Order: sequence, then C-alpha cells, then structure tokens
Amino acid sequence: MSNAKSYIQSVEDDIQRRDPDQVEFQEAVFTVLDSLEPVLEQHPEYIKANLLAQLVEPERAIQFRVPWQSDDGQFHVNRGWRVQFNSAIGPYKGGLRLHPSVTLSVVKFLGFEQILKNSLTGLPIGGAKGGSDFDPKGKSDSEVMRFCQSFMTELQRHIGPDLDVPAGDIGVSGREIGYLFGAYKRLNGYQNGVLTGKGLTFGGSLARTEATGFGLLYYTNALVKAQGDTLTGKKIKVSGAGNVATYAIQKATELGAKVITCSDSDGYVYDPSGINYKIVQQIKEVERGRIKEYADRVATAQYHEGSVWDFDVDYDLALPCATQNEINQQQAGLIAKDGAKYLCEGANMPSDPQAIATYRKNGIVFGPAKAANAGGVAVSALEMSQNSERLSWSFETVDNRLHDIMEDIFEKSEAADKKYHLDKNYQAGANIAGFEKVAEAMLAQGLV
Ligand code: GLU
Repeated sequence: MSNAKSYIQSVEDDIQRRDPDQVEFQEAVFTVLDSLEPVLEQHPEYIKANLLAQLVEPERAIQFRVPWQSDDGQFHVNRGWRVQFNSAIGPYKGGLRLHPSVTLSVVKFLGFEQILKNSLTGLPIGGAKGGSDFDPKGKSDSEVMRFCQSFMTELQRHIGPDLDVPAGDIGVSGREIGYLFGAYKRLNGYQNGVLTGKGLTFGGSLARTEATGFGLLYYTNALVKAQGDTLTGKKIKVSGAGNVATYAIQKATELGAKVITCSDSDGYVYDPSGINYKIVQQIKEVERGRIKEYADRVATAQYHEGSVWDFDVDYDLALPCATQNEINQQQAGLIAKDGAKYLCEGANMPSDPQAIATYRKNGIVFGPAKAANAGGVAVSALEMSQNSERLSWSFETVDNRLHDIMEDIFEKSEAADKKYHLDKNYQAGANIAGFEKVAEAMLAQGLV
C-alpha cells in the first residue's frame, strides 16, 4: 500500500471509530478522500501536516433546541444544527435544510461537500450547512413563520455577513428566508448580507431563484460539448419538481432539449411531448401542491406512483434533482440500459457509490453534484457582493457570470482529470480541483 493510501485509510478508520453511525457523512467523505490519493502522492507536505484529519473535522458543530407552537395550540420541539465546517477560503457559506430526514450526519455530509463545491466556484466562501428535522409539508404559513423565528432566535448568535451566511436548501425557499431574515433583523438590526436567497425587495439577487437549475444546464452543456456532442434534440429525464428541477427544465428546453419526466416523493409524470416548467412551477412553487396534478392539467402526461428511476424509457441524459441516494446500483443499471450517455447531478449526492461505479462501468459520463449544482451557491456569493456594494445587478449580468462560473468549474475539473490521467473521471477531477485551493489556504494559514 502506498504511503498516501495508508494515510487515507487511517483517516477513514478514525472517522469510522468516532462516528460509526454517520453513514451519509462517511459516504461523502470516503468518496472524496479516496480520490485524493494521486494528489497526496505529489504533496507529502499534506500528509506531514495531517491535513486530511483537519479537513474532515468541522471547525464547529452547533446543535440546538427549536420549540414552536402549532395553530391548534400544541407545543413541539425540533432539533436544529449549524455545522461550520471550514473557513480557510472565506466565511462559512451553505444552505439550511428543513426535512424530517435531517440528522447531524446529513448536515455534516452536506457541509463537507459544500467546502469543495464553494471552492470550485472560485469565489471566497468557506463551507457550512444547517437545518432541522422539522417537516414543512402540510404546515400553515404561520406555523412555518413561528418555526423560523424560533430557529433564528438561536442561530442568530452564530452567523453574520463576514462570519457565516446561510441560505436555502430543501424545504427552505423565499418564504422561509424572508421569515428568517425578519427574525434576525428584530434581534440584530438590518444586516443585508447575513442571509442569501432573499426577496428582491430586501437585498436579494436577480437570478438567484433560477441559479441552481440554470447552472446545472450550463455545466451539463460544457460537459456534453467536451465529448463533441450537443444538447440540441436530447431527451432528458429529470427527477424532482422543486426549485432545482423547475429551472433545470426551463433551461434545458431553452437549449433545445426535451425533458420527458419530473417527480416528487410520491411519484412521477411522463410527458413525451415535453414537460412545461411553468405548470410545474405553478403547482409546486405557487400552490405548494403535488406533481400528480400535472397529469390532471396536461393531456399528454401520465402520472405513476414510485421512483422515476424504475421507469423504463429511452433517453439520452439523466438529471437527478430530488435528494441524496435516490439512485442505487440497480437503477443505475437501468439508466445505462435505457441508453443514457450522460448523468449530471442537480441534487446533492443523489447517486450512491455503487450507482456511480455502475455509470463508469457502462461509459455514462458523470457530472458530480459539487460541480454540477454549484450554481446556487455561486449566485449566493454574487448576492453577497451586491449587498456589500449596496447595488443590484441586472438579471443578464448575474446570469452571464453564472454561465462563466459553471464553464470554469467544468474546465477546472477536466484539467485535474487530465493532469492526473483519470480517464474522464470528472468526479475525482472536481474533488481534486476543489481540494487543492482549500489545502493551500489551510497550510498557508498555519495548521495548529
Ligand atoms: N443549498 C445550496 C447548495 O447546496 C445553496 C447554498 C447557498 O446558497 O449558500 O449549494
């Protein structure tokens, strides 16, 4: 075993020993560490400094109680977290997720991924994530407001425009960010840059709402182009029907492709004539309904219960935009059988490690989440810039910068892939390119 390999193994063993139950965190970290072997071979100083042990340990992990009252007068208690993972290249930055599946392990996996994702954007932002096991599904506006106010009562003491800047993720969109911002303001006064994803009337950035979905397509376009191919005329399977999926469908359609599916946690719709993103947006974003209703409104669409990845149909490109580990090995086999040549991740870690191995075995070109879905956080960083200058940029300015950032992310990942002879492994390329900047910054700042 090489020196680098045995060092990586020892760091992984320590994680296993310390946090044996944190499966999502282990999955994310082990995948990254394994891909760093060629870098460590060339940089013995990283091993000497025990850099990986520092990288995998959050600088700070905060857990807190979130009591709130439902409309029927009952009192409830949820658990809240903020994991401030790494501030080597900038203030902590990353979203807040509200979903019953949220645990410390999930927040740590997302926070760890965020370090490298944020580094890839080329912007000065460190990595963090937060959230709660609160389930916003079926809650009234007032219940969500009271929850957000209670959550911020604790979170406010840990964040700030130059310290830690949360934003949205699953279960947190414009409505929740508004309530969180209002609660922060009552406690600390108006500080525009403390959250991103804000409403346009109080310091939000144009194109932030669209950013993750649009960015996914800009990245995918670059990846497909690098294979000498084009998105024009491609058939696409999208999973999810939330913020990422909606704007991915819009941009894919604008780029001349046809999206034939989208889904929620109950089932999926198949529309061979092409999904209309405006109807998805109306159902999910405006009415907060279920995707089943799409088939009631569009004659060419059919609704089925179950996972869209178990649905057999020919297509060219898969864009999973729902949640982590939504694709397993068997479903990855079906994706290959259905003829998909490309898969780019809009959600965070939607493919489990066996699924990713299956893509590779079948020659599916894979764009990993930390590169492909970095558009959201990239525009968050542009929102921070606009807040600092007390200016707002036009939609076109933000969108053009997003486009350039996503192309640059693909190019960096491709360059690392070539440098280390990884044979079109853009996942390892993204891990390495993201890591190199953070590692250099950590060493430069002194480690102990
Ligand atoms: N939640 C998004 C992500 O996974 C965006 C985070 C942000 O804008 O800070 O990257």
